[in-house]
Amino acid sequence: MEFRDLKTQYLKHKETIDTAMQKVLLSGHFIGGEPVSQLEEKLADYVGVKHCIACANGTDALQLALMAWEIGPKDAVFVPDLTFFSSGEVVPLVGAVPIFVDVYRETYNIDPDSLRKAVEYVIHNTDLRPRVIVAVDLFGQPAEQQAIREIADQYGLLVLEDAAQAFGGMIGDKKTCSFGDISTTSFFPAKPLGCYGDGGAVFTDDDGCAERLRSIHVHGKGSGKYDNVRIGMNSRLDTIQAAVLLQKLQFFEEEVEACNRVAAKYDERLRGAVKIPSILENMRSSWAQYTICLKDGKEREQVIAQLQADGIPSAVYYPKPMHRQTAFADHLIEAVSCENTEYICERCLSLPFHPYMEDADINAVCESIRKALR
Ligand SMILES: *Cc1c(COP(=O)(O)O)cnc(C)c1O
Repeated sequence: MEFRDLKTQYLKHKETIDTAMQKVLLSGHFIGGEPVSQLEEKLADYVGVKHCIACANGTDALQLALMAWEIGPKDAVFVPDLTFFSSGEVVPLVGAVPIFVDVYRETYNIDPDSLRKAVEYVIHNTDLRPRVIVAVDLFGQPAEQQAIREIADQYGLLVLEDAAQAFGGMIGDKKTCSFGDISTTSFFPAKPLGCYGDGGAVFTDDDGCAERLRSIHVHGKGSGKYDNVRIGMNSRLDTIQAAVLLQKLQFFEEEVEACNRVAAKYDERLRGAVKIPSILENMRSSWAQYTICLKDGKEREQVIAQLQADGIPSAVYYPKPMHRQTAFADHLIEAVSCENTEYICERCLSLPFHPYMEDADINAVCESIRKALR
């Protein structure tokens, strides 16, 4: 069994994907061009925002957003303590200071109360200016974007929605990547919408922001390629990846629905035995991960060992809170305690998951877990 099987999807759609890739090869144009602009249009349309700028990966997407807002030294950026490293990494990269905020045990997403406390702490105890909230939609479920927006409005902060794991997620009838002043996603192969290499995108409704993002992602270009008006990056999506994504986008909605059916089956078979993921009412997850929590670290070890013995892969997302990462040690400001993140990091376990997962495999995973707990 594979942790996230990408081959089944490819074999199912092999003909259309091969044809699309071959068309790019035959065109002889590998950077930019029609597939990229067409993809940007389709993605903006799917999400329901005005502008989409495709870029090289989800980490660059976050950096591009911070650069477009000119975030830098003496600026504080609030980041959940439970997330992939990128969400925090880009903050010192632009010279700003990350402030880590606790998450909910139930949803694994940012706890607005902890966020508010962290903002107050920064205002009263540091010489930093609170500027940005990185609102991560972890494992596929949107964060509580309404509550986050209220705090942002109250303190005059910008919201950067990091939807790298949650493309296709929804709150009510609104899609992820539409909740931030700027929102980002990743097309890393194992993300809900993945390409065959690295890829990412930035979304915004703000015309001025979109223009700056377009410039920054191609060396700070001005009127043309050799007119450079600011320091930027080289962060473009390859034409061939855009061609793959255009094909995958056609059946993406079906896949998100299929993911939700797989999750419901896991729920049914694991409820009561372990803590299953809680999806809030009115929300749809796009299931980058199906993550359970065990009673304690020892129980998690037992489960991992049993799964391994049964030939089933599993993964710990994430073993370490952001505030404990060595990379942040030099400038760490502990504004709030992150006990829930510590709790989750000791107990969480992500199970094999993909839209084409067969019942027999789901049953095998659940049976192995139940065996470990007996
Ligand atoms: C994967 C991920 C990123 C980074 O995306 P890349 O395309 O791998 O650079 C950023 N944030 C989160 C939450 C992620 O899971």
